[in-house]
Amino acid sequence: MLEVIEPATERTLATVRRAGVEEADAAVARARAAYPAWRAVAPADRARLLGRIADVVAEHAEELAVLEARNAGKPISDARGEMGMVADVFRYYAGAPERLLGDTIPVTGGHAFTVREPLGVVGLIVPWNFPLVIAAWKLGPALAAGNTVVLKPAELTPLTALRFAELVLEAGLPEGVVNVVAGPGSTVGRRLVEHPDVAKIAFTGSTEVGRAIAAGAAETIKRVTLELGGKSANVVFADADLDAAAAAAPGAVFGNAGQDCCARSRILVEARALDDFMAALEPAVRAVRVGDPLDESTEMGPLISAGQREAVASFVPDDAPVAVRGSAPAGPGYWFAPTVLCPVGPADRAVREEIFGPVVAVLPFRDEDEAIALANDTIYGLSGSIWTRDGARALRVARAIETGVLSVNSNTSVRVSTPFGGFKQSGYGRELGPHALDAYTEVKSIYYAVP
Ligand code: NAD
Repeated sequence: MLEVIEPATERTLATVRRAGVEEADAAVARARAAYPAWRAVAPADRARLLGRIADVVAEHAEELAVLEARNAGKPISDARGEMGMVADVFRYYAGAPERLLGDTIPVTGGHAFTVREPLGVVGLIVPWNFPLVIAAWKLGPALAAGNTVVLKPAELTPLTALRFAELVLEAGLPEGVVNVVAGPGSTVGRRLVEHPDVAKIAFTGSTEVGRAIAAGAAETIKRVTLELGGKSANVVFADADLDAAAAAAPGAVFGNAGQDCCARSRILVEARALDDFMAALEPAVRAVRVGDPLDESTEMGPLISAGQREAVASFVPDDAPVAVRGSAPAGPGYWFAPTVLCPVGPADRAVREEIFGPVVAVLPFRDEDEAIALANDTIYGLSGSIWTRDGARALRVARAIETGVLSVNSNTSVRVSTPFGGFKQSGYGRELGPHALDAYTEVKSIYYAVP
């Protein structure tokens, strides 16, 4: 059995059956059996069914949000936002089955045209930080394109995925189109990666596991998309609205207790503005309300596990240069106070590695060139922010930073209708927006001879 822990109380929240390789194989077999009929569903009908999933998720949004808030330890207001996004993703991709357009290409002696074909059975492997919403980013385009799926949630957070599997049947999807297998990555995840009947793996998780998945998928030439780790920079120029940049900075790194691939865990500040920025940042960090995820006013919950807290704490040893430390509850729960490190150097571990917790490093830079060099001085390239009032500079720096997603005078990263994904070792492939459909279809080119 899998014992599911509530991170805010350290108590058992639920006990679910732990799936193994046999269950993974059975799920792949169900998905394979369901595939021919699902891909043959008329586009307008598939669109209607995706719309029904959106409706059913919206009807159960509060139930799902409470489950997610308790299981992942995230503030209930965040969990509600995530369930809203889950419904929005299905509504957006409900528009896709009837818009999977091809090309006609002028050739000699006949007609040439392209069609987009589904891949078959797709394995979806997701992490614990945004359990159902990240699954939805994959489920929406995969199902819209006519694939069937096997979803493997993280062992720590299987509850919303298991409930979702029930809800899709309520929405009217045929049995076998969506299959959920709650089990360890080392057995179930690995089996999906190696299984000859799985055509593609869509993975979100750590860069380390992503590497193993890319290697494992090579054996069967599986299609793979990887959404991996990040070390994003929040670049603040002296001409920016410093108060706005400082007020927004805590949310950009302490949101989801820092367990966010887009966390701006490096704040780069133009040296002449550093003192003013730090003076404005301090009260903003102290104001972050850390506590019970089910309290409506909570802005940050606990970390996911004792192991995660230990890993995060290793970035803040006793002699760490702590410039600001916020508050956190005492007693049971995997709490960690929001922490700002300054001064730090570019070689420090907290500047180089993904922390995945509420710890941020602040570094000064001299000029635009140094800001770009520092921002790019990482193996990752997922997200980032630029704060400046100079429009030309904003565009120059945005083009020069090697990341898949950037925002100017804002720290947002993810929208249903825009592509999301990484450069460099943050992964490959794009989710969301129109581009995600490319990752769940093959292009077929057909030539029809016309004598
Ligand atoms: P993880 O890599 O440990 O696990 C992710 C998933 O992979 C889990 O379901 C796990 O069971 C499974 N897994 C583990 N080993 C496997 C194997 N050998 N074969 C197949 N599956 C395996 O990641 P995590 O700790 O759950 O999540 C945190 C990481 O996810 C961070 O690095 C974070 O940056 C990253 N992340 C990235 C994005 C993104 O979109 N780029 C979003 C969220 C999280």
